[in-house]
Amino acid sequence: MTKLKAAILGATGMVGQRFIEALIDHPYFEVCALAASAGRGGTRYEETNRWKMTTPLPKEIGDMRLITIDVKDIKKSGAAIAFSALPSDVATYLEQDLANEGIAVFSNTASHRMDADAPLLIPEVNPETIDMIRGKKGFIVTNANCSTTGLVLPLKALVPLSIRRVFVATYQAVSGAGYPGVPSLDILGNIIPHIGGEEDKMRRETKKILGTYDPSSKRVEDVSFELHATCVRIPAIDGHFEAVEVEVEKPVGEEEVISLFERFESPDIVRGLPTAPEKPIIYRHEPDRPQHRYDVNAGEPCKRAWGMAVSVGRVRVIENWVRFVLISHNTRRGAAPGSILNAELAYSKGYLK
Ligand code: NAP
Repeated sequence: MTKLKAAILGATGMVGQRFIEALIDHPYFEVCALAASAGRGGTRYEETNRWKMTTPLPKEIGDMRLITIDVKDIKKSGAAIAFSALPSDVATYLEQDLANEGIAVFSNTASHRMDADAPLLIPEVNPETIDMIRGKKGFIVTNANCSTTGLVLPLKALVPLSIRRVFVATYQAVSGAGYPGVPSLDILGNIIPHIGGEEDKMRRETKKILGTYDPSSKRVEDVSFELHATCVRIPAIDGHFEAVEVEVEKPVGEEEVISLFERFESPDIVRGLPTAPEKPIIYRHEPDRPQHRYDVNAGEPCKRAWGMAVSVGRVRVIENWVRFVLISHNTRRGAAPGSILNAELAYSKGYLK
């Protein structure tokens, strides 16, 4: 099988490094270019960059010379796909310019998530929205903010109960702020009760992802329930923990809620994709799970779906109020492999040329 060439934009950052890690020996895609800020142009990746992954940096990647964020240079690399892990101010125009040049952009940034013609895609939740790109050569497909991604999977499982309102409090790891991120003196032994823009992103993105897709207009109508979020930064390296309260239409039993989580499955079109976890939600029955230390990498260790499952636990129900907690890997499920899964879905539908 001929692999499609992919450029990684923002290849030196936390998400960019996860892209490199997750694309090693990928069956559909191969890395043809690594791009970062202008000052690094022409330098060898290994020399200019601090590799922060715990897996080894492949030699052929370490030897690659970085290019700058320039549409002509990215095109010259032969890339059919660009995986974007850029800050949103840089991404806004660049991603659109690349799409206009016929490149398939899979973006992790907030810039185009709310665009009416861009899928905000979590394949296990709203796979139908990938059809927005049908017939286009260049396009932008986005994935959600890392804290939104962890939340919408269990919320999707609860849709049969008719969700009325959602309250969520997040406890988010420092890698969510990129590298070098939050200064150590601010976060060690501390909690920071504010993450700029995060609460609003969780509200708007959840409403779009769980909205209704109309195939004729290729537009999504937001779901009507309201969501209220409180987001804080904690001194964990990876993984966003969330405490969730959901008001549903009618009183429900704990066993029924747990069963909805346990029975939740990927749609057929997603199951079997290289980065799809076998079980997107793993329910933990122990009273003290999930935990960052044990559950952040849930999925299938040693396979591509490592860190792609969301771990859920501590279901408690009072009448029509359902409470639970979850943990989800912010740079795996919530970023690079999540974006690669989006590209795999587009590939399997024949939308990537
Ligand atoms: P990061 O560690 O700060 O990395 C940013 C990357 O962008 C670096 O490669 C950096 O290159 C490059 N860059 C910065 N300014 C640039 C410029 N002016 N021109 C060209 N390249 C530039 O950030 P990150 O955590 O990887 O996040 C990347 C994006 O993904 C952000 O939009 C973020 O919101 C989103 N995201 C992050 C997470 C997460 O958990 N971290 C999850 C989901 C989505 P240099 O090293 O050369 O400066």
